[in-house]
This record gives sequence, C-alpha cells and structure tokens, in this order.
Amino acid sequence: MQSTTNPLLDILSGIAQRQIRVVDLTQTLDPDFPQIELPPEMGRCWPFRLEEISRYDDRGSAPYWNNFSCGEHTGTHFDAPIHWISGRNLPDNSTDTIPVEKMVAPACVIDCVKHARQNPDFLLTAEFLKNWEEENGRIPQDSWVLMRTDWSKRNDPAAYQNFDEEGQHTPGPATDAVRFMVQERNILGFGSECIGTDAGQAMHLRPPYPCHYYVHGAGKYGLQCLTNLDQLPSTGSVIFSAPLKIKQGSGSPLRVLAFVCDG
Ligand code: MN
Repeated sequence: MQSTTNPLLDILSGIAQRQIRVVDLTQTLDPDFPQIELPPEMGRCWPFRLEEISRYDDRGSAPYWNNFSCGEHTGTHFDAPIHWISGRNLPDNSTDTIPVEKMVAPACVIDCVKHARQNPDFLLTAEFLKNWEEENGRIPQDSWVLMRTDWSKRNDPAAYQNFDEEGQHTPGPATDAVRFMVQERNILGFGSECIGTDAGQAMHLRPPYPCHYYVHGAGKYGLQCLTNLDQLPSTGSVIFSAPLKIKQGSGSPLRVLAFVCDG
C-alpha cells in the first residue's frame, strides 16, 4: 500500500485495493429473525416489524419508505452498561453517552466451533482463554473478545433458539472466563453469535447471567447475534460498532463492521 501523509487515506486506498477487507458481522433485520426470550418475569422485547408507508403509489407517489419498530435488543445489537442492574449507576453507561472512541476497537476471536458443535451448552472457561493466549498472545486491554461458535450458520430459527423444556441451550462464557476478561484483561466488551452474550442456561450460573453482571458492572459492552466471525483472523481485526444514539438507551440494533488487513 502506497503511503500518504494522511493515514486515513492509506486506509481508504487499502480498502479500494482490497488489502483491507471490510467484513459485515451483521444479521439482516427481518421479522422472522429469532427474538431474545428471557424468563417471562424479565419482560418482553419486540421483534423487528416493518410497515410500508408508501411505495410510489396512492399513499405517496414519489417515495418508498417504511416505519419500523423493534426492541433495543433485536437482531444484531449492542448492549450498554445501563442494560444490567450492575451497571446502572456508572458514568457514560447509555447509548447516547458512550464515548465514540470506544466504537472502534481491536478484536480477539476465540474459536469454540468444535466445542459448541459437541455441546450446545458449552461454556468458555478462563482456562480455554489462557490456552488461546498461549497461541495468540495476551488479550489486549480495551479489545473485543468475540466467541466464534458458527452458531450464526443455524438458519432455522428453532435450531438457532434451541429451546427445550429446560429452556434455551446455547453456548456462552463461564463465570470464571467473564471475571478473567473483565478483571485481569480489562477488555472493552464481549461478543457472541448467539442471541445473548450469556449462555442459554446462564440463569443457573452464579451469579445468574454472569456476562451481563460483570461486563456491564465494569462499564463494558456486549454484542450479540453476530455473524461471519469465521471470516476474521484470531487477532488483528478492528471492529466498528456504533449503537444508535437513543437517549438513555440500554442498547440498539446496529451495523457491525470488521476491518481485516490481509497484507
Ligand atoms: Mn442485549
């Protein structure tokens, strides 16, 4: 890549010359995409809904446009610290006050594909992360840790949700992994291909939903319903994730992009 005096132009020419890949980590917002379902006492989040206003017709001859509605936690979305009771009193804890500099950050991708395939209730442990570090180096401060499971390849909504009479069976981090990432590595946030950052059975862990509890309690962020993590290297990618600027927002659907330099 030819260097200019402006590093931003270097990035743009890198993208144009395909030395930098831009990978879309976002699922399409669609009414049929599975919606998070927590136990009923925790309330209900609306699925995505699209309603046509006009489409070059008698409701409006020139414009095509829609109204849409959804919950803050619909589709590929961002969790702000205020989302959980442990983060409710932190500064800059909602989508409108998170510093924008935090919205661009490096990522570590933890390959859990084999384990998640063998066991849908697979829990990523601190030991697993330490073994990952043996091969890939220390998880840098202020980086995303993204749990790759290939769960996003489950196109059937029932298989994606994976409910049975005991509830949801989807992989996520163990309590000791969350404490390790937050307290010993000071990560920026944790991301998952599943419908929540916590495992489907995380209500049985101590504390319940440990990822939400510790990550948001430390002012850190969550990303869920990610896709295309198989297109990212273990280290070296940069994530762009800017939630909608909802006043006092607890989260929002968003476009998540990864920048990968193959050169
Ligand atoms: Mn959420």
